[in-house]
Amino acid sequence: MNVFVLNCGSSSVKFQIVNTDLELFEGDLDHVVAKGLIEKVGSKESIFKFESEGYELVTGTEPLADHREAILRIRKWMESDDTKITGVLGWHDIHAIGHRVVHGGEKFTKSILINPEVLKQIEECTELAPLHNPANLKGIAACTEIFPSHIPQVAIFDTAFHSTMPEEAYLYALPYEFYEKYKVRSYGFHGTSHRYIAYRYRKITDTPKEKVNIISLHLGNGSSICAIKNGYSTFNSMGMTPLEGLIMGTRCGDIDPGVIEFLYAKGIGDLPAIMNILQKKSGLLGISGVSNDMRDIEKAAIEGNHRAKIALQMFAFRTKRYIGSCLAEMGGADAIVFTAGIGENDVIIRQMICEGMESLGIELDYHLNKLAVKGKCMKISKEKSPRDIYVIPTNEELLLARDAVRVVRDSPREW
Ligand code: ADP
Repeated sequence: MNVFVLNCGSSSVKFQIVNTDLELFEGDLDHVVAKGLIEKVGSKESIFKFESEGYELVTGTEPLADHREAILRIRKWMESDDTKITGVLGWHDIHAIGHRVVHGGEKFTKSILINPEVLKQIEECTELAPLHNPANLKGIAACTEIFPSHIPQVAIFDTAFHSTMPEEAYLYALPYEFYEKYKVRSYGFHGTSHRYIAYRYRKITDTPKEKVNIISLHLGNGSSICAIKNGYSTFNSMGMTPLEGLIMGTRCGDIDPGVIEFLYAKGIGDLPAIMNILQKKSGLLGISGVSNDMRDIEKAAIEGNHRAKIALQMFAFRTKRYIGSCLAEMGGADAIVFTAGIGENDVIIRQMICEGMESLGIELDYHLNKLAVKGKCMKISKEKSPRDIYVIPTNEELLLARDAVRVVRDSPREW
C-alpha cells in the first residue's frame, strides 16, 4: 500500500509517501518513495521542497494561502509529467492517508479511521491543543476535499501511546473536580516517536514487548522523556500541553506557576502575551539570547558566550533530573535511548547528560559516543555499563504509515 503521511503545523505541511509492502523492499523498514515540506504556508513566499527517490530535489517559492492550497501544490507536483515516484503515478495510486494529530484527549487511545463523528471528537480536543489541533484539522479538511472519497483517512495521535500512564502519573495536584469537569491532566506527547523507539529497541535487542524497560529521550526542538515499563508508557515529561518538562528550543518547560503571576504584576503583558513568551521566547533561545538551535548555541559557547554555556548546562541538568526520576519511578531500566535532532546528532549534549550518572548505572563510552553516525542505530555505553545507552533515529512517519494500513485493514497493531 502507498500511504500519504501528512503532518500539518500552523504554517507548515510535511508529507511522505510510504510504501508499506515489505515484500517489495529489503529490510524491515518500509520505503519512503517521496517526501516534502512546505513552509511559510499563508504567506506570499511559501517555500516548497519536494523529493522523490532517485531524483533531484525540487524547490521553489510561491504564494500558498492555506493548507488546502499547499496540499493542492503537492498534488500538482505528484501529477506532473516530470515527477517520477516509484509505484505512484498520481493520486489514484495512494491507498490511505495517515494524519498526525497532536491531541486526542482521553477519547483516543489508538489510531482511528476518520469519519464525521471522529472529526467532531477531534474538534472537541482542540481546546486542549489550540496551537496544534487546528492545523491538523485543516489538513484533514483539505484532504477530504481534494482526495477521492474512497481513500480512507486515519488519525494517529501523539497522545495515544501515553494513555497507559497510571493515574498518579497523569493527575495534577489541583482540585479533583478540574479533572472531572475539564479533563485537566497530563496527557504526554511525542507518543509516536517514543512508541517507535520502543519498537526499534525491541527489534535491535530481540526483546519481547512486555520486557521492554527503557527511558526514551526525544530531544529535538521540542523535547520529552518517556518511561517505558514492560512495553507501555508510564510517564511522559510533557503535560496537558507540550509546554511542560524539559527545556526546549523556545519553550520554557517546567517553571513555578507563581512566575506567571509575578510577570503579570510586573506589567510584562496580559496572560496571552506571557504565554507567548513561555512558548516562543524562552527555552534555549531565551536563556542564550543566541538561537533556539543547539548547533548555534554550542558554537557560541565554544567562543566563550556565558549565556550559551549556561543554556547547555541547564538543558543537560534538567534532562539528568528527569532520567533520575524515571529510574526511580520505574524501579530501574535496561537502557536509555537518545533520539530526535539533538539526541541523534549532538555528541556534546549526550556526553553532558551522561556525565556523573555512573552511580545510576549509566556509563557512556566517550569514544563510541563520538562514532555514532547520523541515521544509524548504535550502542554507545561502555561494555560493562549496567544500563545500555543507545542512539536510535526516530521515524514517526513509519508508524503513521503502518498505523494507517493497520486501521484500514482492521488488523491488530504490533505497538
Ligand atoms: P522537531 O522537534 O522540530 O521535530 P528535530 O527533532 O528535527 O525537531 O530537532 C531539531 C533540532 O535538533 C534543531 O533545532 C537543532 O537544535 C538540533 N540539531 C539538529 N542537528 C544537529 C546537530 N548535528 N548537532 C546538534 N544539534 C542538532
